[in-house]
Amino acid sequence: MAAKARPLLRHWLIQKLRRASYMWPPRQQAIKNARVERGKYRCNICEGENFGPRDIQVDHIQPVVDEEIGFADFNTYIDRLFCSVDGFQVLCKQCHSAKTFFEQEIRKDVKREKKKDEPEDDI
Ligand SMILES: [Zn+2]
Repeated sequence: MAAKARPLLRHWLIQKLRRASYMWPPRQQAIKNARVERGKYRCNICEGENFGPRDIQVDHIQPVVDEEIGFADFNTYIDRLFCSVDGFQVLCKQCHSAKTFFEQEIRKDVKREKKKDEPEDDI
């Protein structure tokens, strides 16, 4: 395979793996565990108003892609994506957005720090 096509292939595979993980039994179990009554779920962070199944956000407590390291390799990615039931939590949309936002901020900081350490190209 041409090296040029590799990032596209990686992106495609990641999408397929993500989609497959929706049916991962421990993930399904985490959703069941968050159910407080028929059609109502509780957020693991704010424990606020219960929400319906359409608003369920299943979160990997430990992000699939480490904020500090970034994408390491497919074995690591798969291990973290298909984690055990304890690795998942059900969140409301607001809490999931906030958690994702902070994780992205860490990733940006790490990228910024890495750039600082790299020698300038134009010297
Ligand atoms: Zn919440």
